[in-house]
Amino acid sequence: MKSFFHIAIDGPVAAGKGTASKLVAQKLGFLYIDTGAMYRMAAMLAAQHGVDFNDEAKIVSLVKQAKMAMHSPRQDEQDGRLITVLLNGEDVSWKIRSKEISEGASKVSILLEVRKILVEKQKEIAQGKNVVMEGRDITYRVLPDADLKIFLDAALSARAERRVKQIQATNPQITLEKILKEIAERDERDMGRSADPLQIVPDAWVLDTTDLTPAQVADTIVHRVHEMRQLTHEKD
Ligand code: C5P
Repeated sequence: MKSFFHIAIDGPVAAGKGTASKLVAQKLGFLYIDTGAMYRMAAMLAAQHGVDFNDEAKIVSLVKQAKMAMHSPRQDEQDGRLITVLLNGEDVSWKIRSKEISEGASKVSILLEVRKILVEKQKEIAQGKNVVMEGRDITYRVLPDADLKIFLDAALSARAERRVKQIQATNPQITLEKILKEIAERDERDMGRSADPLQIVPDAWVLDTTDLTPAQVADTIVHRVHEMRQLTHEKD
């Protein structure tokens, strides 16, 4: 019998995947993996080298040479981040969250060859471990045999309000209208692309987080995992 448990979580922008995944991972003692951070690092590499976000060959070459690493924030890194992201040794945890890189990530993620390399890396990271991995294609491409597949969703207005609250701390000028437009555009690109679009697989558990706090979402998921593991033990 296999001794690890894979939780795969997909969902649109600002559905609360990051916070919920991180909390679930903490409660269960699993590894949390933010795959979006890897597409963001690919975009960051392009930006650092003045490469166009559509230039597949150049981005592939940059990604192949790059060292991408992530770890749970250490004591001296507790500044609100969910995960520490290192690109070629540099801490880019916050830099990859800028508007330019967010848009760039959604553009580079259309490139098939870039996806191929990153999906391979993600499979390797998860192999043989208890993980909570979140992204857009985890339930069907990266971890198609995951023990628990979740599609985390929320109303567009709720997602935009959450994002505005996050951004307003550093940019008080931001408006709900602007964020609504940006999120809608990214959703359209994520769902409309031909390369592994965001989709709900038939065996996914669709969890609507519109009226739930991140802690409630995490508790609901943890409860389900405990139930599933109990069932498995009873069968053994
Ligand atoms: O999740 P996050 O917003 O950080 O992801 C950044 C971008 O990377 C998304 O807009 C999405 O287009 C892309 N992505 C993806 N596949 C994943 C994770 C993220 O295409 N597994």
